[in-house]
Amino acid sequence: MKTIRLRDGKERSVLRRHPWVFQGSIAKGGGDAGETVRVEAHDGRFLAWAAFSPSSQIRARAWSFDEAERIDEAFFECRLRAAIALRGRLAIASDGVRLVHGEADGLPGLIVDRYGEVLSAQFLSAGTERWREVIAQQLCALTGVQRLYERSDSGVRGLEGLEPRTGWMRGAADATTEVTITEHGWTLGLDVAKGHKTGYYLDQRDNRKRFADLVRQLGCKRVLNCYSYTGGFSVAALAGGAEAVTSVDSSGPALEQARRNIERNGLDAARCEFLDADVNQMLRDALKAGRRFDAIVLDPPKFAPSAAHADRASRAYKDINRLALKLLEPGGLLLTFSCSGGIGAELFHKIVAGAGLDAEVDGYLLQRLEAAPDHPTTICFPEGEYLKGLAILRR
Ligand code: SAH
Repeated sequence: MKTIRLRDGKERSVLRRHPWVFQGSIAKGGGDAGETVRVEAHDGRFLAWAAFSPSSQIRARAWSFDEAERIDEAFFECRLRAAIALRGRLAIASDGVRLVHGEADGLPGLIVDRYGEVLSAQFLSAGTERWREVIAQQLCALTGVQRLYERSDSGVRGLEGLEPRTGWMRGAADATTEVTITEHGWTLGLDVAKGHKTGYYLDQRDNRKRFADLVRQLGCKRVLNCYSYTGGFSVAALAGGAEAVTSVDSSGPALEQARRNIERNGLDAARCEFLDADVNQMLRDALKAGRRFDAIVLDPPKFAPSAAHADRASRAYKDINRLALKLLEPGGLLLTFSCSGGIGAELFHKIVAGAGLDAEVDGYLLQRLEAAPDHPTTICFPEGEYLKGLAILRR
């Protein structure tokens, strides 16, 4: 068994069950890519079993803090079983469910979404890459799902020294990659091969429902859905009684899927406008043209992948929020989000406050929003918290 020994004092975060060991914390030792290593303190005390990753800044990710545990097939079966069992106990109004959410489920670097009878997985770390076949086999056995698509094409694999890889791991190679799920009673189509990430943004499930309810309750008629992707919030707006919905995204295929999703639910696509555009530009043009909306959603991509990008990202968030607040009618609703791990909830609130000041607009904070419960955060790994949002009623 290979060992990595930490520098004096660097054991503290691992003792608090934080699963990452950074390169700078290691005094000596190493292993092959994905190999299980024993992590020990400067005095030789056991700290964790971890997957070694020779090319990443996060040089090791802990599998277990229990010295008696063996990292073998039974270990993965146990963790996967627990992750899946948790979802069975949560309130999830969909057959699209995140089954494994990386670190929070004790499986650093592994993301698995279930879309009806298809699994879509990302192996994002050297450790999960090493155990990929075992994990695939057990996922299918534990869920009874026969089809598993791999979407290991995220940029973070590069940091781990891994090449991108996509394709069916289980199920016919020529099978369709299109799937439909039922979310809060809405039928939504997605494509596990061509969609973003694993195919869809399950984390916004309950916020889409909340939006439908608020649109109805507040009587919002003209809705602007920025960064709409496949139109989840647009479907919600129409279901909530909106009369005109504008969906803006820079991805043409996502907008086509958005149109299909609206039609699938028997909603009126004639009330919809689909703009293949840059949201920044679109917001400015809309303001110049004197357009106004009763409800706006801002759900941008990650502007700050880490805290190092927080300054620039803050300015970008502030700018779109300022424009959106100006485009809102008094009494209108703004749902604004950040999925940047590098921007905490408190900072995000401050950014939106700054945007309000610049726009000379105040608002009531109706609700604080977060990711759906199948994207859990654990108390030992607060970095896992990434999606935060505010529902604001313009004064
Ligand atoms: N709200 C969506 C998820 C949004 S993901 C849902 O509920 O499913 C972010 C989206 O922003 C992606 O679809 C991406 O194509 C789009 N995007 C990224 N940068 C953009 C830009 N500058 N202008 C418009 N869309 C952009």
